Amino acid sequence: MTSIQAIRGTRDILPSEIGNWQMIESVARQILGCAAYQEIRTPIFEQTSLFERGIGEATDVVGKEMYTFNDRGDRSLTLRPEGTAGVVRSYIEHGLHAQGGVQRLWYTGAMFRYERPQAGRQRQFHQLGVELLGSSDGRADAEVIAIATQILQTIGLKDLSLHLNSIGDASDRQHYREALVAYLTPFKEQLDPDSQTRLTRNPLRILDSKDANTQAILGNAPSILEYLSPASQTRFDALLALLADLGISSTLNSRLVRGLDYYTHTVFEIQSADLGAQATVCAGGRYDGLIPQLGGPETPAIGWAMGLERLVILLQHLQASPPSSVDFYVVSRGEAAEAQALKLAQSLRQAGFKTELDLSRSAFGKQFKRADRSGATACLILGDAEAESKTVQLKWLNSGEQSAIAQADLLANPQQLRQQLTQRST
Ligand code: ATP
Ligand code: MG
Repeated sequence: MTSIQAIRGTRDILPSEIGNWQMIESVARQILGCAAYQEIRTPIFEQTSLFERGIGEATDVVGKEMYTFNDRGDRSLTLRPEGTAGVVRSYIEHGLHAQGGVQRLWYTGAMFRYERPQAGRQRQFHQLGVELLGSSDGRADAEVIAIATQILQTIGLKDLSLHLNSIGDASDRQHYREALVAYLTPFKEQLDPDSQTRLTRNPLRILDSKDANTQAILGNAPSILEYLSPASQTRFDALLALLADLGISSTLNSRLVRGLDYYTHTVFEIQSADLGAQATVCAGGRYDGLIPQLGGPETPAIGWAMGLERLVILLQHLQASPPSSVDFYVVSRGEAAEAQALKLAQSLRQAGFKTELDLSRSAFGKQFKRADRSGATACLILGDAEAESKTVQLKWLNSGEQSAIAQADLLANPQQLRQQLTQRST
């Protein structure tokens, strides 16, 4: 019988790789907590129309990449391709805006897009993102960018670059759109097929094309920055000054766009030169028009999302996933000893010591080998003699030192035991 394999574009994250994932999550959780962001968890599937309205029908994501199906009640549902739409739906549905002031939210989880799988591009992948809702202040833009930078730095990534642009307000973009279409129309036949369609549906997105020929044609295209109104320009200059003040350097990239009507002003990406074609590890922007578009009150907002697979790939270039280290490995042999070993292991766990119990019943020699391989700091040994005397042999695996101790005394002073483990674990 052929065995069943994981679906194309999905990956198992195995125990040997989980260390980096857990490290990223705990760093992010800690940093976001300090910045007073609260976690929100929304469902993995939603009504299809949420994404059609919340991401836009003219985008690749909605047009080509969604996992959409009818459920048994004939409702059209979609596995979430990104996090913002669900968070905004929840924000409106639960009246989080009515709580006044600013809401700072973050999320993490699996996202689904029907794409061609490559390194750093999967069909089920994971994002971590933030949304800051209820402020149009430039400091909100600077804050979310600073937090993204802080997370990436803290997990140990270097050589990342922040690319920044302003796409102005709806009227700036209308003028720019006309200029861009006027420039591109004579080249229409030479554009890649997607860009040809976008010329009428969503011309700003052409700037995002990965086709080399289209990119060459775009070389002389007008820049959005020439179409910013004085107010939009002032806002953008202020953001640049705030970022400089925070010590965050950025590269102006007038090609960076979010080609939808409800995106406004700030857009940014954080890229790594170390990832080949899948260079962007974090992407975000201001979406002042989205909440009304989804039926909520006028609410300015900004957010970003990071692709966790790409962060893990970068970390793997730097170091192996941190190994999990066990405090105690418990070996035992003989009926009474085995029963006592289970009890002892359980009380160690309850006291917060990471304890692995050997269940093999094999000869002591084999169990000791496994103890060594486990990376444990100490081995606890129970045989017939120890079971009889209610003692246990404590062996420090680094030095080989070994002594007997009454089982009842092992946890008499947990703090001291913890200190011993720390001293001996190097
Ligand atoms: P790309 O241009 O790489 O397709 P995108 O503009 O579609 O990216 P966003 O929707 O802005 O990506 O998502 C934010 C981040 O999520 C991306 O910068 C990337 O790190 C990650 N990401 C997006 N799609 C995938 C995917 N299919 N597999 C892995 N990570 C992804
Ligand atoms: Mg994409």
